[in-house]
Amino acid sequence: MTFSDADQLADHPNTISGTRIVMLGTGTPRPDPDRSGPATVIVVNGTPYLIDFGPGVIRRAVAAYNKGVVAIGPAGANLRTVFLTHLHADHTAGYPDLILTPWILGRKHPIDVYGPKGLSDMTRHVLSAWKVDIENRLNGIDCLPASGCEIKAHEIDPGVFYKDRNIQVSAFRVRHAGLENAFGFRVETPNRTIVLSGDTAPTQSLLDNCHNCDVLIHEAYSQATYEKVAPKWQAYRRESHTCSTELAELANRVQPAAHPDASRECRCCDGAARSRRCAARRSASPLQRHCCYGTRFGYFLAAPK
Ligand SMILES: [Zn+2]
Repeated sequence: MTFSDADQLADHPNTISGTRIVMLGTGTPRPDPDRSGPATVIVVNGTPYLIDFGPGVIRRAVAAYNKGVVAIGPAGANLRTVFLTHLHADHTAGYPDLILTPWILGRKHPIDVYGPKGLSDMTRHVLSAWKVDIENRLNGIDCLPASGCEIKAHEIDPGVFYKDRNIQVSAFRVRHAGLENAFGFRVETPNRTIVLSGDTAPTQSLLDNCHNCDVLIHEAYSQATYEKVAPKWQAYRRESHTCSTELAELANRVQPAAHPDASRECRCCDGAARSRRCAARRSASPLQRHCCYGTRFGYFLAAPK
Protein backbone atom coordinates (compact mmCIF):
# COMPACT_ATOMS: atom_id res chain seq x y z
CA MET A 1 0.00 0.00 0.00
CA THR A 2 1.20 3.44 -0.78
CA PHE A 3 -0.23 6.53 0.82
CA SER A 4 0.22 10.11 -0.17
CA ASP A 5 -2.90 11.86 1.03
CA ALA A 6 -2.73 13.81 4.24
CA ASP A 7 -5.43 11.91 6.05
CA GLN A 8 -3.77 8.61 5.20
CA LEU A 9 -0.41 9.73 6.55
CA ALA A 10 -1.60 10.16 10.08
CA ASP A 11 -0.40 7.78 12.74
CA HIS A 12 -2.98 5.11 13.18
CA PRO A 13 -3.65 3.60 16.59
CA ASN A 14 -3.22 0.10 15.19
CA THR A 15 0.21 0.84 13.75
CA ILE A 16 1.91 2.72 16.58
CA SER A 17 3.77 -0.43 17.57
CA GLY A 18 4.62 -1.39 14.01
CA THR A 19 7.20 -0.38 11.45
CA ARG A 20 6.52 2.46 9.06
CA ILE A 21 8.54 3.99 6.27
CA VAL A 22 8.22 7.62 5.23
CA MET A 23 9.90 8.72 2.02
CA LEU A 24 10.86 12.33 2.70
CA GLY A 25 12.82 12.79 -0.51
CA THR A 26 13.64 10.78 -3.62
CA GLY A 27 15.48 13.34 -5.74
CA THR A 28 18.82 13.42 -7.51
CA PRO A 29 21.52 16.12 -7.70
CA ARG A 30 19.30 17.85 -10.27
CA PRO A 31 17.30 20.50 -8.33
CA ASP A 32 13.76 19.40 -9.06
CA PRO A 33 11.24 21.60 -7.19
CA ASP A 34 8.94 18.59 -6.86
CA ARG A 35 11.52 16.30 -5.27
CA SER A 36 13.49 16.84 -2.13
CA GLY A 37 16.91 15.28 -1.69
CA PRO A 38 17.23 11.62 -0.66
CA ALA A 39 15.95 11.05 2.87
CA THR A 40 13.92 8.23 4.40
CA VAL A 41 12.50 7.84 7.88
CA ILE A 42 11.79 4.44 9.39
CA VAL A 43 9.58 4.67 12.46
CA VAL A 44 9.71 1.69 14.81
CA ASN A 45 7.57 1.60 17.93
CA GLY A 46 7.28 5.37 17.81
CA THR A 47 11.01 6.05 17.39
CA PRO A 48 12.16 7.62 14.10
CA TYR A 49 15.40 6.67 12.34
CA LEU A 50 16.60 8.86 9.47
CA ILE A 51 18.54 7.50 6.50
CA ASP A 52 20.36 10.16 4.45
CA PHE A 53 19.82 13.90 4.65
CA GLY A 54 19.56 15.44 1.22
CA PRO A 55 18.61 19.08 0.69
CA GLY A 56 15.24 19.98 2.15
CA VAL A 57 15.29 17.21 4.75
CA ILE A 58 13.85 19.15 7.68
CA ARG A 59 11.16 20.84 5.62
CA ARG A 60 10.02 17.43 4.42
CA ALA A 61 10.23 16.10 7.97
CA VAL A 62 7.96 18.92 9.11
CA ALA A 63 5.59 18.17 6.23
CA ALA A 64 5.39 14.57 7.46
CA TYR A 65 4.89 15.72 11.05
CA ASN A 66 2.16 18.11 10.00
CA LYS A 67 0.44 15.26 8.18
CA GLY A 68 0.37 13.18 11.31
CA VAL A 69 3.70 11.37 11.56
CA VAL A 70 4.13 12.76 15.03
CA ALA A 71 7.03 10.44 15.89
CA ILE A 72 9.30 12.77 13.91
CA GLY A 73 8.65 15.53 16.42
CA PRO A 74 8.07 19.24 15.83
CA ALA A 75 10.76 20.70 13.56
CA GLY A 76 12.25 17.21 13.30
CA ALA A 77 13.36 17.36 16.92
CA ASN A 78 13.10 13.59 17.39
CA LEU A 79 15.42 12.76 14.48
CA ARG A 80 18.29 11.85 16.74
CA THR A 81 19.55 8.60 15.22
CA VAL A 82 20.76 9.01 11.68
CA PHE A 83 22.38 6.69 9.13
CA LEU A 84 24.23 7.92 6.04
CA THR A 85 24.80 5.72 2.98
CA HIS A 86 27.57 7.77 1.36
CA LEU A 87 29.09 11.22 1.26
CA HIS A 88 27.74 12.54 -2.04
CA ALA A 89 26.30 16.04 -1.80
CA ASP A 90 22.77 15.12 -2.82
CA HIS A 91 22.62 12.81 0.22
CA THR A 92 24.33 15.20 2.64
CA ALA A 93 23.53 18.78 1.62
CA GLY A 94 20.86 18.85 4.33
CA TYR A 95 23.42 18.24 7.08
CA PRO A 96 23.57 21.79 8.48
CA ASP A 97 19.77 21.88 8.27
CA LEU A 98 19.56 18.64 10.26
CA ILE A 99 22.06 19.88 12.83
CA LEU A 100 20.88 23.45 13.27
CA THR A 101 17.19 23.82 12.46
CA PRO A 102 15.72 21.39 15.03
CA TRP A 103 18.16 22.79 17.62
CA ILE A 104 17.06 26.36 16.95
CA LEU A 105 13.45 25.22 17.22
CA GLY A 106 13.88 23.29 20.45
CA ARG A 107 15.94 20.09 20.24
CA LYS A 108 17.84 19.74 23.51
CA HIS A 109 19.58 16.42 23.01
CA PRO A 110 22.60 15.39 20.92
CA ILE A 111 22.18 13.41 17.74
CA ASP A 112 24.14 10.33 16.68
CA VAL A 113 25.09 10.07 13.01
CA TYR A 114 26.53 6.86 11.55
CA GLY A 115 28.19 6.90 8.16
CA PRO A 116 31.27 6.29 6.02
CA LYS A 117 34.81 7.41 6.75
CA GLY A 118 34.95 11.15 6.19
CA LEU A 119 31.77 11.77 8.19
CA SER A 120 33.73 13.04 11.21
CA ASP A 121 35.57 15.58 9.06
CA MET A 122 32.35 16.67 7.41
CA THR A 123 30.67 17.13 10.79
CA ARG A 124 33.56 19.15 12.16
CA HIS A 125 33.63 21.38 9.08
CA VAL A 126 29.87 22.01 9.14
CA LEU A 127 30.02 23.02 12.79
CA SER A 128 33.02 25.22 12.02
CA ALA A 129 31.32 26.84 9.04
CA TRP A 130 28.36 27.85 11.22
CA LYS A 131 30.52 28.80 14.19
CA VAL A 132 29.38 32.44 14.32
CA ASP A 133 25.70 31.51 14.34
CA ILE A 134 26.19 28.69 16.84
CA GLU A 135 28.04 30.94 19.27
CA ASN A 136 25.42 33.63 18.85
CA ARG A 137 22.61 31.22 19.63
CA LEU A 138 24.47 29.78 22.61
CA ASN A 139 25.31 33.13 24.14
CA GLY A 140 22.77 35.54 22.68
CA ILE A 141 19.06 36.00 23.15
CA ASP A 142 18.29 32.37 22.19
CA CYS A 143 20.50 31.01 24.97
CA LEU A 144 20.17 27.54 23.45
CA PRO A 145 21.54 24.46 25.25
CA ALA A 146 24.87 23.29 23.84
CA SER A 147 23.72 19.69 24.12
CA GLY A 148 21.19 20.22 21.33
CA CYS A 149 23.97 21.09 18.90
CA GLU A 150 26.22 18.21 19.90
CA ILE A 151 26.79 15.76 17.05
CA LYS A 152 28.28 12.36 17.71
CA ALA A 153 29.69 11.15 14.41
CA HIS A 154 30.39 7.42 14.15
CA GLU A 155 32.37 6.15 11.16
CA ILE A 156 31.25 2.67 10.22
CA ASP A 157 32.58 -0.45 8.53
CA PRO A 158 30.62 -3.24 6.85
CA GLY A 159 28.65 -5.44 9.23
CA VAL A 160 26.29 -4.70 12.09
CA PHE A 161 27.03 -1.20 13.34
CA TYR A 162 23.90 -0.23 15.27
CA LYS A 163 21.52 -2.06 17.54
CA ASP A 164 18.92 -0.97 20.07
CA ARG A 165 15.64 -2.37 21.33
CA ASN A 166 13.87 -1.43 18.08
CA ILE A 167 16.28 -2.11 15.26
CA GLN A 168 19.51 -3.69 14.13
CA VAL A 169 21.29 -2.09 11.20
CA SER A 170 24.07 -3.60 9.13
CA ALA A 171 26.04 -1.99 6.33
CA PHE A 172 27.30 -3.60 3.15
CA ARG A 173 29.49 -2.10 0.46
CA VAL A 174 27.86 -1.23 -2.85
CA ARG A 175 29.30 -0.20 -6.21
CA HIS A 176 28.95 3.53 -6.70
CA ALA A 177 31.04 6.14 -8.50
CA GLY A 178 34.36 4.66 -7.41
CA LEU A 179 33.70 5.44 -3.77
CA GLU A 180 35.46 3.02 -1.44
CA ASN A 181 32.82 3.55 1.22
CA ALA A 182 29.36 3.66 -0.27
CA PHE A 183 26.93 1.53 1.70
CA GLY A 184 23.56 -0.11 1.50
CA PHE A 185 21.77 -0.88 4.75
CA ARG A 186 19.81 -3.85 6.00
CA VAL A 187 17.43 -2.71 8.75
CA GLU A 188 15.79 -5.37 10.90
CA THR A 189 12.92 -4.39 13.19
CA PRO A 190 10.81 -6.67 15.38
CA ASN A 191 8.36 -7.24 12.52
CA ARG A 192 10.03 -6.16 9.28
CA THR A 193 13.29 -6.34 7.37
CA ILE A 194 13.99 -3.41 5.09
CA VAL A 195 16.89 -3.13 2.67
CA LEU A 196 18.02 0.25 1.34
CA SER A 197 20.33 0.22 -1.64
CA GLY A 198 21.73 3.70 -1.31
CA ASP A 199 23.21 4.66 -4.68
CA THR A 200 24.60 1.65 -6.49
CA ALA A 201 25.10 -0.20 -9.72
CA PRO A 202 23.86 -3.79 -9.61
CA THR A 203 26.06 -5.67 -7.18
CA GLN A 204 26.13 -9.10 -5.59
CA SER A 205 26.45 -7.61 -2.10
CA LEU A 206 22.94 -6.22 -2.32
CA LEU A 207 21.50 -9.57 -3.35
CA ASP A 208 23.39 -11.22 -0.50
CA ASN A 209 21.73 -8.89 1.98
CA CYS A 210 18.19 -9.14 0.68
CA HIS A 211 17.37 -12.60 1.99
CA ASN A 212 13.92 -12.69 3.60
CA CYS A 213 13.48 -8.92 3.29
CA ASP A 214 10.00 -7.46 3.38
CA VAL A 215 10.72 -4.16 1.64
CA LEU A 216 13.45 -3.17 -0.79
CA ILE A 217 14.02 0.56 -1.26
CA HIS A 218 16.16 0.86 -4.34
CA GLU A 219 17.44 3.65 -6.54
CA ALA A 220 16.98 3.54 -10.30
CA TYR A 221 17.36 5.68 -13.39
CA SER A 222 15.02 5.43 -16.31
CA GLN A 223 16.03 4.12 -19.69
CA ALA A 224 14.09 7.00 -21.23
CA THR A 225 16.35 9.65 -19.69
CA TYR A 226 19.44 7.50 -20.27
CA GLU A 227 18.95 7.81 -24.01
CA LYS A 228 19.08 11.61 -23.75
CA VAL A 229 22.39 12.09 -21.95
CA ALA A 230 25.90 12.22 -23.42
CA PRO A 231 27.86 8.96 -23.82
CA LYS A 232 30.15 9.94 -20.93
CA TRP A 233 27.19 10.17 -18.58
CA GLN A 234 25.60 7.07 -19.98
CA ALA A 235 28.81 5.23 -19.00
CA TYR A 236 28.68 6.84 -15.55
CA ARG A 237 25.12 5.69 -15.05
CA ARG A 238 25.97 2.13 -16.08
CA GLU A 239 28.92 2.02 -13.69
CA SER A 240 27.34 3.79 -10.73
CA HIS A 241 23.57 3.35 -10.80
CA THR A 242 20.88 0.83 -11.64
CA CYS A 243 18.58 1.13 -14.63
CA SER A 244 14.91 0.31 -14.39
CA THR A 245 15.21 -2.98 -16.26
CA GLU A 246 18.07 -4.09 -14.02
CA LEU A 247 15.95 -3.22 -11.02
CA ALA A 248 13.11 -5.28 -12.43
CA GLU A 249 15.40 -8.30 -12.69
CA LEU A 250 16.71 -7.66 -9.19
CA ALA A 251 13.24 -7.33 -7.69
CA ASN A 252 12.17 -10.56 -9.33
CA ARG A 253 15.14 -12.37 -7.81
CA VAL A 254 14.75 -10.80 -4.37
CA GLN A 255 10.96 -11.15 -4.18
CA PRO A 256 10.46 -8.91 -1.13
CA ALA A 257 8.16 -10.86 1.15
CA ALA A 258 4.44 -10.34 1.23
CA HIS A 259 2.84 -9.05 4.37
CA PRO A 260 -0.65 -9.93 5.53
CA ASP A 261 -2.49 -6.89 4.34
CA ALA A 262 -0.70 -5.95 1.16
CA SER A 263 0.76 -7.52 -1.93
CA ARG A 264 4.48 -8.13 -2.28
CA GLU A 265 6.19 -4.81 -2.61
CA CYS A 266 9.32 -3.26 -3.87
CA ARG A 267 9.58 0.43 -3.31
CA CYS A 268 11.34 2.03 -6.21
CA CYS A 269 12.86 5.44 -5.57
CA ASP A 270 13.48 6.40 -9.12
CA GLY A 271 14.77 9.92 -8.85
CA ALA A 272 15.72 10.01 -12.49
CA ALA A 273 12.23 9.63 -13.85
CA ARG A 274 9.18 11.75 -13.33
CA SER A 275 6.38 10.81 -11.03
CA ARG A 276 3.46 9.21 -12.87
CA ARG A 277 5.92 7.86 -15.41
CA CYS A 278 7.39 4.93 -13.60
CA ALA A 279 9.97 3.61 -15.98
CA ALA A 280 10.29 0.42 -14.02
CA ARG A 281 6.62 -0.25 -14.41
CA ARG A 282 6.71 0.41 -18.12
CA SER A 283 9.80 -1.57 -18.84
CA ALA A 284 9.18 -4.76 -16.95
CA SER A 285 5.71 -6.10 -16.41
CA PRO A 286 6.80 -8.68 -13.79
CA LEU A 287 7.88 -5.81 -11.58
CA GLN A 288 4.59 -4.04 -11.89
CA ARG A 289 2.84 -5.91 -9.14
CA HIS A 290 5.87 -5.61 -6.84
CA CYS A 291 6.79 -1.98 -7.39
CA CYS A 292 5.73 1.25 -5.79
CA TYR A 293 7.20 4.35 -7.27
CA GLY A 294 8.94 6.84 -4.99
CA THR A 295 6.85 9.94 -5.38
CA ARG A 296 7.73 13.33 -4.03
CA PHE A 297 6.17 12.49 -0.73
CA GLY A 298 5.46 8.86 -0.32
CA TYR A 299 4.41 6.92 2.68
CA PHE A 300 4.60 3.21 3.10
CA LEU A 301 2.79 1.53 5.91
CA ALA A 302 4.17 -1.77 7.11
CA ALA A 303 1.52 -2.85 9.55
CA PRO A 304 2.33 -5.11 12.48
CA LYS A 305 2.42 -8.80 11.73
ZN1 LIG B 1 25.73 9.07 -4.92
